[in-house]
Amino acid sequence: KAALYENLDEHTRVSFKDVAGLDEAKTEVMEVVDFLKDPKKYTKLGGKLPKGVLLVGPPGTGKTLLAKAVAGEADVPFFSISGSDFVEMFVGVGAARVRDLFRQAKEKAPCIIFIDEIDAVGRSRGKGAMMGTNDERENTLNQLLVEMDGFATDKGVILMAATNRPDVLDPALLRPGRFDRQIMVDKPDLKGRIDILKVHTKKLSLSPDVNLKRLASQTPGFAGAEIANAANEAALLASREGKKGIEMKDFEAAIERVVAGLEKKNKVIN
Ligand code: ATP
Repeated sequence: KAALYENLDEHTRVSFKDVAGLDEAKTEVMEVVDFLKDPKKYTKLGGKLPKGVLLVGPPGTGKTLLAKAVAGEADVPFFSISGSDFVEMFVGVGAARVRDLFRQAKEKAPCIIFIDEIDAVGRSRGKGAMMGTNDERENTLNQLLVEMDGFATDKGVILMAATNRPDVLDPALLRPGRFDRQIMVDKPDLKGRIDILKVHTKKLSLSPDVNLKRLASQTPGFAGAEIANAANEAALLASREGKKGIEMKDFEAAIERVVAGLEKKNKVIN
């Protein structure tokens, strides 16, 4: 079921201007973009490029978006899979999937392989499994390590992965030549939230009373995904009432809804 290959055409293509805030993270991944555009320029002097970039940060902060933007900016194919997809797989399927993913990617290089929620498959080995048993997740992780060691970056395949639990990852994943770069993708500050609001209200019809700066100050602790969600909710609320433009109070009602949703979610977790 998991679609491995996402062909980001002109409608779904993401660029850096779609990623608001995250200036530092963008600067850091710029190097990857540059490399994917012209791998030879970098390897001519014999240097080795990073193979794997780990994006670390809370849910909804734009890690997937940033990885897609790297592919978009470099104009290369984007292969993605979620670590949690592997967990449900039958014996042997996870490892075969990993092999298949790398084989396809090598054929399309230069390109990006993105593994979301890598912690689902990349937790430390040897924990939880009974003595002597080699559980399916470990097989998948081992295959991933084998594949990472088996390809040379000069082919132009760059691995990106996302997690909000870097602490549980198997140290083998973080060794040099694997995910040896970590980039923080944090929740936005006030300015970041203003920028994210700008991106997500660009195509909306706003009434003149809308003040994005004030809305940003009403959304402390929101991740980008929650801000995007609130903007869309505001548009729906205003449409339902047949308004010509989305008003400040629609945004405020939408923000309340998102906050209520978050509180509910936290209750379930705690
Ligand atoms: P998860 O860890 O839950 O997979 P994530 O960090 O990968 O989350 P995304 O899936 O990239 O988050 O973000 C979800 C959506 O939220 C994006 O598609 C986008 O609409 C919006 N969003 C999140 N962060 C940003 C941002 N910095 N700028 C603009 N939009 C953002």
